[in-house]
Amino acid sequence: MADRYANFANSGLGRTMVKRLGLPDPPRLRRHTAGDPLVTGPVLLGAAPGGRLGEPTRKLLETAGAEVTDKTDEGVRVSALVFDATGIVDSPQLRELYDFFHPYARALQSSGRVIVLGTPPEATASPKEAIAQRSLEGLTRSIGKEFGRGTTAQLVYVAPGGEAGAESTLRFLLSGRSAYVSGQVIRIGAAPAPAPADWERPLDGKLALVTGAARGIGAAIARILARDGAEVIALDVPAAGDALAGVANETRGRALQIDLTAPDAPARLAGYLAAGPHAGVDILVHNAGITRDKTIARMSADRWDSVIGVNLTAPERVNDLLLERGLIPSGGRIVGVASIAGIAGNRGQTNYATSKAGVIGQVQAYAPVLAGRGITINAVAPGFIETAMTAKMPLGLREAGRRLNSMSQGGLPADVAETVAWFASPGSAAVTGNVVRVCGQSLLGA
Ligand code: NAD
Repeated sequence: MADRYANFANSGLGRTMVKRLGLPDPPRLRRHTAGDPLVTGPVLLGAAPGGRLGEPTRKLLETAGAEVTDKTDEGVRVSALVFDATGIVDSPQLRELYDFFHPYARALQSSGRVIVLGTPPEATASPKEAIAQRSLEGLTRSIGKEFGRGTTAQLVYVAPGGEAGAESTLRFLLSGRSAYVSGQVIRIGAAPAPAPADWERPLDGKLALVTGAARGIGAAIARILARDGAEVIALDVPAAGDALAGVANETRGRALQIDLTAPDAPARLAGYLAAGPHAGVDILVHNAGITRDKTIARMSADRWDSVIGVNLTAPERVNDLLLERGLIPSGGRIVGVASIAGIAGNRGQTNYATSKAGVIGQVQAYAPVLAGRGITINAVAPGFIETAMTAKMPLGLREAGRRLNSMSQGGLPADVAETVAWFASPGSAAVTGNVVRVCGQSLLGA
C-alpha cells in the first residue's frame, strides 16, 4: 500500500507545505542496495576514559572501509556518532555523554546513525557501575526521538570478552539495512563469532527455511536471505501455492506447501529436511502468522485457538522436533517474528498479543538452552509495516500507526527482512536472546 502522504511531503510543493504548516515530515530513509558503502561519510568516534571498546571499534570500522575521526570542524557533517561508554562507572561520569553529544548533535547527515556502546548492567563490577550503564538507555532512546531526519539511535551492550563479536551488529546498525530500527537495546555475548568470508554474501552455503513466505514480510525475508547467499525453502499453505511458486522462482529456491497447523506438519517438514542434501536446516525463520481481531468479550474460541495455533504452537512444535532429531546443526539460527503488540498489548488483539508475547518467551526460554549447542535464537518485533495486513486497517488507525514514530512513516517488509538477515549471519554467533523492534521507534507499543 503506497504511503501517498510521504510521497507528497517529499515533492516540491509538499516540502513547502510541510514546513509552513508544521505537518509530519517523513524523511526518505537511506536503505541498503547491493554494493553500497557501509556509511556515507566519516564516523565520529568518542570514548569515556578507561573504556574497553573504543580501540577495537576503531579497528573494526577501519577494516570495514569507514573513515574514522575523533573530532570534526564546525559545519562538517558525519554519517555516524559512535560513543564507547564502557568507561563510565558512576553517575557523575555520565557527563561524558553530554560532553560528546552536545557539540556534535547537529553534525549528523540525514539518515545518520548514533550508537552507544556499554557493558551489560548485570556484568558490571559494582552496583554504581550497573546503574550508570543502565542509564545509557534513556540517552539513546531520547536521541532517537530528538535528532529526526531519519537518524537511528541504539544502545549496544557488549559482554566483557565479546569485543570481537560486535562486528556484524555494528555493520548492520551503521548501514542502510537498519533504516527502520531505532531506540533499541541490543545485547552481544562473548561467544566467538567468525567473520564471514564476504560480508556482501554472508549466507553463502547456508540453507534457510522461511514460513509464510508467499507474500508480505515472509516473501521479503526469502528475497533478502537469498540476496545474502542462502538457498531458501519458501513454505506456505497450499492455498497460497501460486504466489509461493513465484517467490521460489524469483529466489531460485524451493517451494514447500504445508499448513503448519496440520497435526503431521512438523513430521513432514522434518522428513523433507532430513532427506535433502543438507540433512537439516541452518536458518529457520518462523514468520507465518495470522490475526483474528475481536475484544475478548466478543471473541469466539475458534479465533483464540487459530491465532495461538499458527503463531505460537506451530513454531514450538517445529522447533521441538527439528531439535530433537538434530536437524538444526551447530551454527544454526532460529528467528521468531513477534510484534510490538506482544510487548504492549493492543485492544482487540488479546489472542494475537498473547501469541506474540509467547514468541518473545520462546527467545528468552531457549537462548540459554541452545547456547550449549551453538544455536542462536532471536526475534524481530515489527511495528507498522506496509503489507496486506496493515492495508486492511481502518484509515484512522493506519495513519496513527504510520505517523506516530520517530520516522513519521511505516516500515517496509525489507526492513524486517534485513534485521532477520543480521541475526542469521555467521558473524552474529554472539547475538542471542534478543528481541529487536523494527518499528521506527513507534510511540505505540512502548
Ligand atoms: P501476511 O498475512 O501478508 O502473510 C502471512 C503469511 O503466512 C501468508 O502467506 C499466509 O498464507 C502464511 N500462513 C498463515 N497461516 C499459515 C499456516 N498455518 N501454515 C503456513 N503458512 C501460513 O502477513 P505479514 O504482514 O507479511 O506478516 C508476517 C509476520 O509478521 C506475521 O507473523 C505477523 O504477525 C508479523 N507482523 C506483521 C506486522 C505488519 O505490520 N504487517 C506487524 C507486526 C508483526
